[in-house]
Amino acid sequence: MYLCYLDESGTADIPGSTSHYVLAGLSIPYSNWKNQDKEIEQIKGKYGLQDTELHVGWMLRQYKEESKIPNFLKLSFTQRRSKVKQLQKATLLRLQKTGGSAHKQVKKNFAQTDGYIHLTYQERVQVVMEVATRVSRWGNARLFAECVDKVFFDPARTGRTVAEQAFEQVVTRFEHYLQLIGAKDPIPELCYGLLIHDNNETVAKRHTALMKDYYKKGTSYLSLERTIETPLFVDSQLTCMVQIADLCAYGLRRYLENGEENIFKLVMKRADRKQGELVGIRHYTDSSCTCKICSQRRTPTGVQADLPLSI
Ligand SMILES: [Zn+2]
Repeated sequence: MYLCYLDESGTADIPGSTSHYVLAGLSIPYSNWKNQDKEIEQIKGKYGLQDTELHVGWMLRQYKEESKIPNFLKLSFTQRRSKVKQLQKATLLRLQKTGGSAHKQVKKNFAQTDGYIHLTYQERVQVVMEVATRVSRWGNARLFAECVDKVFFDPARTGRTVAEQAFEQVVTRFEHYLQLIGAKDPIPELCYGLLIHDNNETVAKRHTALMKDYYKKGTSYLSLERTIETPLFVDSQLTCMVQIADLCAYGLRRYLENGEENIFKLVMKRADRKQGELVGIRHYTDSSCTCKICSQRRTPTGVQADLPLSI
């Protein structure tokens, strides 16, 4: 049995606040799940993050309070947390007096970053890089992803939304991977796959409905033979591997939007390939794109070729 953990980065809305929407799926064999989960928990433990969800987008922001505290680096985790909290309280009180929407937004930001305020920016980068490096060495893990450049996405042409297209692509690639390994495996009965997703009510409904549809008619490319019909929805706070899928999606999006390669280079080591060609990840954009995803694929991947799938 193979478990494929899904998560997204960027917004699927058009135009939304990001130019790209990325859906990533990281597949690992069930038999490796326990050890790999433990490896990540060990890294998190070193940084006092054992009960905290790794949410890379929030971790890799600059936190203003950190720079205002003298000798922040020399303080213990508990002292840092207490000093940061103190400054945050003062900020919220000040904003409450002035009124307006800033108070609500800042309060939300503080809540999202609360688990990481005892770490310096450098330490937060270090955790993310350590985790990404570890994942890059998981020889049996495979990364599938659809990276949609929304500038070139036309729902009237594709007949589906950005999120639907991304989901169909990832499901198809995972299914094809399972069919290939199932054909070679001496015990093909073991080559079934389960999709595991963060439990967000809207996404859960949409993905369950889409999977039902794929079961009846297949995806646009394949009939589903090896992917289990109903995805499993879990709490990402409690499921370390969904957090790893988040890291992969984030790394792909930041490369495509900002040219940042540090996380990208590592997660790309796990991208699914067939005879050396990149098949697991696609950049849906203008066909003249020469990014490191497009240039590693032999078949055209851009909008001009509309939905080709190299399988
Ligand atoms: Zn590209």
